[in-house]
Amino acid sequence: MSTIPELFGSMVFGDAVMRQRLPHDTYKALRKTIDEGKPLDLGVANVVANAMKDWACEKGATHFTHWFQSLNGITSEKHDSFINPSQNGGVIMEFSGKELIKGEPDASSFPSGGLRATCEARGYTAWDPTSYAFIKDGVLCIPTAFCSYTGEALDKKTPLLRSMSAISNEARRILKLFGKEVPQVMTTVGAEQEYFLIDKEDYAKRLDLILTGRTLFGCPPAKGQELDEHYFGTLRTRVSAYMKELDGQLWKLGIPAKTEHNEVAPAQHELAPVFTTTNAAVDANLLTMEMMKKVAERHGLVCLLHEKPFAGVNGSGKHNNWSISTPDANLLDPGKTPMENLQFLLFFAAVIKAVDDYQDLLRAAVASAGNDRRLGANEAPPSIISIFVGDELGAIIDSLADDVAYTCPERVAMDLGVAVLPKFTKDNTDRNRTSPFAFTGNKFEFRMPGSNMNIADANTVINTATAKVLREFADALEKAEDFSAAAMGLIKATLKAHKNIIFNGNGYADEWVEEAGRRGLQNLPSTIDALPALLREKNIALFEEFGVLSPVEMHARYEVSLEGYAKVLNIEALTMLQMANQELMPAIAAYMEKIAAAAAAKKAVSQAISVRAETTLLQKLSASADAMSDAIEVLDKARGAAAAEKDALASARAYHDQVIPAMNVLRAAADSAEAVCGEKYWPLPNYSRMLWYMD
Ligand code: ADP
Ligand code: MG
Repeated sequence: MSTIPELFGSMVFGDAVMRQRLPHDTYKALRKTIDEGKPLDLGVANVVANAMKDWACEKGATHFTHWFQSLNGITSEKHDSFINPSQNGGVIMEFSGKELIKGEPDASSFPSGGLRATCEARGYTAWDPTSYAFIKDGVLCIPTAFCSYTGEALDKKTPLLRSMSAISNEARRILKLFGKEVPQVMTTVGAEQEYFLIDKEDYAKRLDLILTGRTLFGCPPAKGQELDEHYFGTLRTRVSAYMKELDGQLWKLGIPAKTEHNEVAPAQHELAPVFTTTNAAVDANLLTMEMMKKVAERHGLVCLLHEKPFAGVNGSGKHNNWSISTPDANLLDPGKTPMENLQFLLFFAAVIKAVDDYQDLLRAAVASAGNDRRLGANEAPPSIISIFVGDELGAIIDSLADDVAYTCPERVAMDLGVAVLPKFTKDNTDRNRTSPFAFTGNKFEFRMPGSNMNIADANTVINTATAKVLREFADALEKAEDFSAAAMGLIKATLKAHKNIIFNGNGYADEWVEEAGRRGLQNLPSTIDALPALLREKNIALFEEFGVLSPVEMHARYEVSLEGYAKVLNIEALTMLQMANQELMPAIAAYMEKIAAAAAAKKAVSQAISVRAETTLLQKLSASADAMSDAIEVLDKARGAAAAEKDALASARAYHDQVIPAMNVLRAAADSAEAVCGEKYWPLPNYSRMLWYMD
C-alpha cells in the first residue's frame, strides 16, 4: 500500500509531475504562465499536452474532457477519447496542444441569460493552466473557462480569474509603496463544506429529496439538535468509514482535506481543506462536492448538499475563508502589534470599505432559493451584511476612527487550575459564530454562502470590490509626499466612514435587525430582494472598470439567477402537489378507512364499547385531509399563475409572494396528518428516523 504522501496528488498533473516529465524549457514557460499569468504559446502547449496524455494513459485514462463551471453553478464535462485512427488500421493515443488549450462544446443547452439564441450553438472552452489537470473516473479533466462564440463569459471561472488579476495588480501597487516588488498577489480561500448524510433507503422513498434535494414535508422529529450532542460527537461507524474513503479520494486528487467533524444538526457533518489560491480552491470545492456524493453511494448513504434539507434544524453553509497574500506573506496577518502595522491596517481597512460599499453585491452573490431558507434561520447568519473584527481590532478601529489613544490589552495567561494541564495565553478575542463576515485572526470568513453554491461568485465580488478600494488607495498614495502620514490619514478616514458595518454582537438577535436598519445597512431577506443589485449602476460600473464582467454579462447573470430561482420553486411546487395527491392523500384515506372499520367492528360486537379514540383520530385526520385538499387547490392555482407570468422578475416575485406561502400551508396540513397517522401507513420516512438512523 502506498503511503499518504505518495498517494497525495497521484491523480493530478501537478508541479512535481510537470517538473519530472516536461523538458526544462517547457516547464519554465509553463511555470511563467501559472505564476505570472504570462500567455502560453502553442509550441509549449503541444509538448505539455503530449506529456499529459502519456501520464494519463499510464494511469489508465482513455478520455479527456474540458471541465468547466456553467452559469447554473454545476460543473460540466463532455468526454473525448484520445484515440486516433492510424495508417495500419489501428489506433494511436493522441492529444494535441490545440485540444488542450481550446475546446468547442455545443453551448446551446447551457444557461446563457439571453447571451445567445439557441441556434447560435458555438461555445469555447479555454484551458486554465493555474488549476492543475487531474484524472477522475478514467478521464483526464482539464479545468477550463467557458465562453460564447462572441466572447462573453458563460461560466463562473472566467470572471473569478479576471477578479484575481484585478486585485493582484492593485495590491502590487500598494506593496510597491512599501518598497516591495512581488510578481503576483494572490487571494487564498479555504472553504468549509457542510453536508448531511442519510441512509440511501430512506432517500429512495422520498420524491422530494430525489427531485429537489430537500424535504418538502415532514413533521418535526421528537429529538432534534436541542441536546447539542451531535456537534463534534463520536462518528457513526458508517460515517467514519465514509469520511476515511472520501479523504483518500480527495488526497489522490491533490485536495488537502484536513478537518472533519459532526456538525450541530443530527446527521450533519463538515469537511475543511487546507486553503489554497482562490481559483484552485473553487475547483477543489466543486470536486469535493462531487466526490462527497459519489463516495456516499458506496456506503449505502446519500450526501445532501442542499442548504436546508430539513426544516427546524440547522441548514448547511459553506464558510469561505479568504485572505490576500504574496508568495511569502499573508497581507491580512496583523502581527503582534497591529496598531503599528501600517501595511496590515491599510489592507484591513480596504476590505472593510469594500464590503460596506458593495454589501448588496455580496448578498446577491449568495442568493438562491435554497439559501433563502437558510439565511436568518437556525444558526445561520441573517441576510444583513456586517463585519466582526473582535475586541482588539475593534479597539484599534475605535481609536483610529475617533483619534483617541490606544492601549494594547495585556495577554492573559490561562490557568485551568490543574498542574498537569499546559498553561497557555488566551487569544485577545473570542470567536463570533453569528457574524456573516468575520475577521478570524489572519483572514476573513464569509459565512453566508450556501452549501450547494459555487463560491466563485462570492470571491469574484470580494476580489473586485477590494481591488477597487486598493486602486483608490494607490491613486491617492502614489501622489502623496509623506507616504506614512498619508497612509495613516487614509486608514483613519476609511475606518471612520465605514465603522457602521462593524458589529461584534449577536447577529442572530432580533434587536440586531432593528439596529442594522438604524445604521443604514441593507437587509435583503430573499433572492428577489437581492438580485436587482446585479443591475445597479454602481455595481455594473465596478465590474466594467476592472474588466471582470461587461454590462451584458452582468445582465445575463441576473437573468440566469432569476430564472433559476423561479424554476427551482416551480419544481418544488409540482413535487409537493404530486406527493400530496398521489402519496399522502391516499395514505390518509387508507388509514382513516382502517380506523373507521375498526370502530365499526367494535360497535358490531357491542354498542357499549367506546369508539372515542377512533372518533377523535378520525376527526383530526379528516380535518387535515380537508385542509390539504384546500391547500392543494390554492397551490395549484398560484403555481400556474406564477409560471404564466411572462416577465422574469414578476414571475419570480409571484413564486416568492404566492407560491411559497401556499407551499407552507400545504406542508403544515400534511405534517399535522403525519403526526397522528400510523407510521406503517405514512409513505415517507419521518424526520426522526432519517436524522437518527442506525449505524
Ligand atoms: P473554523 O471551524 O474555526 O471556522 P476550520 O479550521 O474548520 O475553522 O477552517 C478554517 C479554514 O480556513 C480552513 O479551510 C483553513 O485552511 C482556512 N484558512 C486558514 N488560513 C487561511 C488563509 N490565509 N486564507 C484562506 N483560508 C485560510
Ligand atoms: Mg468556520
